[in-house]
Amino acid sequence: MHRFMKEINIVFEELKPEDRIVITMHQKPDPDAMGSTLALFHFFDKQGYQVIVISPTNWADFLKWMPGVEKVIDFEANNTLAKEYLFAADWIFCLDHNHFSRTRHMESILFSLSSKKVLIDHHREPDTASFYCGISDIRKSSTAEMVYDFILLSGKKELLDRDIATCLYAGVMSDTGSFRFSSTTPSVHFMVAELMGFGIDHPRIHTNILDNFQENRLRFIGHVLTHRLEVLYEHNTAIIAIPKSDILRYHIKTGDTEGLVNYPLSIQGIEMAALLIDRDEERKWSFRSKETFDCNTFARKYFRGGGHYNASGGRSTDSLEENVNQFKKALKEFNALTINQK
Ligand code: 5GP
Ligand code: MN
Repeated sequence: MHRFMKEINIVFEELKPEDRIVITMHQKPDPDAMGSTLALFHFFDKQGYQVIVISPTNWADFLKWMPGVEKVIDFEANNTLAKEYLFAADWIFCLDHNHFSRTRHMESILFSLSSKKVLIDHHREPDTASFYCGISDIRKSSTAEMVYDFILLSGKKELLDRDIATCLYAGVMSDTGSFRFSSTTPSVHFMVAELMGFGIDHPRIHTNILDNFQENRLRFIGHVLTHRLEVLYEHNTAIIAIPKSDILRYHIKTGDTEGLVNYPLSIQGIEMAALLIDRDEERKWSFRSKETFDCNTFARKYFRGGGHYNASGGRSTDSLEENVNQFKKALKEFNALTINQK
């Protein structure tokens, strides 16, 4: 049955004090996914709701300092407990993703549950039919900014505190590339000014997220930039394809490849950068662009993915080599198509 997603205000009318709330995000959460869910968690927790955060998978070490992160349940590592909470939930808030396929093994459970599902997200082409109500706004810098808006909309702004501000700052800082991307609107800076009023330690938040790796990760980056980077000047594109052997040799774990896709964009003239990583069960793509390359459409059309205009991801079960070949072919076709449209 197709129906339209209702406006998010309905939450304030229908949420009862005894209702059980689960908050979840996309697999392998980034700072925006983790920061926005934890901020919303604190907001409900302070009001006495039964609320829990479930992540579809594990998360990077550079998120392990966030206030409340110790209470987050890893669906894969703690499956029985996570399922108990999911099956008992009256409301499921889905943050920083807009399709259940982004929740890995939780996907079929989310589809099957009849609880009220609420969407708060800023990615393109939401699967609105899967949600009872929510907000989807691609103009928003981050889901963290949307959670801030949600708190204001609730009329309970007085519940904002240092922990919530810290989580929200981490999310928006990360999703705007430290306030650099075009998504950094005046309202982002106004919000950040408010958040700083709570005495957050913003230099520490930057350090916790950006300077929190081990030596092996830097050596790994040196290795892949030397041996795995291919620059396709004729397409203003660069690609880094990382075989499993590199991952094993450098003991690379969740979060260690974060940000790597951006390095080739520092080359003059390079408009798009692609990163391909050989993971256990699939090959994972990341795409980033500077200005006019539409990463979302590209990922959606060729690699079962999506995301934003300048940042998207995708995946495939084909081999690394097959993926690289498909990528080169796709790039040619895509560029030809876009040039024809201009
Ligand atoms: P990343 O490259 O950091 O994994 O993802 C970049 C952006 O694309 C993020 O906003 C992420 O949510 C989105 N994204 C990554 N992988 C996928 C995917 O497989 N499908 C969709 N729809 N979006 C993705
Ligand atoms: Mn986000």
